[in-house]
Amino acid sequence: MDQVDPRRLIPRTNDLLALPEVRAARIRLNESVIRGLVRQVQEQARRGELAPGQVETALLGALAARKATTLRQVLNATGVIVHTNLGRAPLSASAVEALVTASGYVDVELDLADGTRSRRGAGARAALLAACPGAEDALVVNNGAAALVLATTALAGGREVVVSRGELVEIGAGFRLPDLIESTGSALHEVGTTNRTHLRDYASAIGPNTGCVLKVHPSNFRVDGFTSAVPLRELSSLTASNGVPLVADLGSGLLAPDPHLPHEPDAASALASGADLVIASGDKLLGGPQAGLLLGGKEIIQRLARHPLARAVRADKLALAALEATVAGETPPVVQALHADVGQLRRRTDRLARALHAPVVAHEGRVGGGGAPGVPLPGWALRLPEQLAALLRARDPAVLPRVHDGSCLIDLRCVPEEDDDRILDAVRQALAVLEVSAAGRAG
Ligand SMILES: *Cc1c(COP(=O)(O)O)cnc(C)c1O
Repeated sequence: MDQVDPRRLIPRTNDLLALPEVRAARIRLNESVIRGLVRQVQEQARRGELAPGQVETALLGALAARKATTLRQVLNATGVIVHTNLGRAPLSASAVEALVTASGYVDVELDLADGTRSRRGAGARAALLAACPGAEDALVVNNGAAALVLATTALAGGREVVVSRGELVEIGAGFRLPDLIESTGSALHEVGTTNRTHLRDYASAIGPNTGCVLKVHPSNFRVDGFTSAVPLRELSSLTASNGVPLVADLGSGLLAPDPHLPHEPDAASALASGADLVIASGDKLLGGPQAGLLLGGKEIIQRLARHPLARAVRADKLALAALEATVAGETPPVVQALHADVGQLRRRTDRLARALHAPVVAHEGRVGGGGAPGVPLPGWALRLPEQLAALLRARDPAVLPRVHDGSCLIDLRCVPEEDDDRILDAVRQALAVLEVSAAGRAG
């Protein structure tokens, strides 16, 4: 008898699509995603990676694992609080609740009392002004970079932005502040040198072509040694007497001073020192959603809000909702992680260490996200074999440890305490996989 080509036994598309579990998946996945998974398992069978009889089971497994989002939850065990590659700030419970509310129809730009259009994001604006009473008005845009683009375009388009050479920083991979500013059609007028800039440097640069003076907080590095910069307060008397707006880009997003971060600037202090406009991010130390905050006097904020570019960089309803709830709600996770009690971290780490028979080592966390460079956050980590890291990242939720000096380090600072046992399970299972493969090699 002729040998039947096993590929002829691969279940047909229509038969697979008719399976009850596949039909049921249509309530959460669209047709083309489902058909894509069907094709995928059929192709695996054609390549001989699956026996024809395994296709159905493989398809059901793939369907069960497939969600409409391919984003995977990550337990951040790096000790880096604002981790840009992990989406920066994890949101507070109140902010998450606000996101759900805002996901439907909401009164983001409607006055329900009289049924007419209202100012967009009034709630977020009110929360910011309550938290930073030094500001007369506030505008929320898409992110910090957008806030900077809007400010320089509206205040200095076709004219000059006066800025210190020591503050022309690169914020993240490929994002350079000077390039961003020049992309708006404003010319940079650089003053001073990399390490020292004096008030007289600004004074001689300001002229009829000056659109604004910009002071940038170089948030991700520090220059030590023979340095000097002009404090906002001194600069503001110069700009005020010349009638030029003074813009302070803080980066971090602290609204008020934080005693843990004595060198980190905050919006309230910057405004009190005479800045006309303060720019900050929503998803750094503020601990909220991606957003760019503009805080300042009524006139300057109105000028920005009326600029045509404001429409192109406006915040969406989800960000506005989460931002308001971050500011008005409970202490957000970023701030909790920043202020985590060292003794408490030690007790949590010790418990996992005992269960896993792993050593505990001193480990410094970081603010991250280009904030508070060099500010160490003393804490602890479990020290595990380096090969564990890849296994932990492959899980769902993924566990992201820090790989350092040949070890896989687990720092619980940014892990909510209720997830400690998930970390424990993940490490246990990863260690078991490691043992099996080590035994396999030995045998
Ligand atoms: C982070 C940062 C920005 C950019 O803000 P995004 O919200 O990331 O767009 C701009 N300026 C400074 C000083 C920053 O630290």
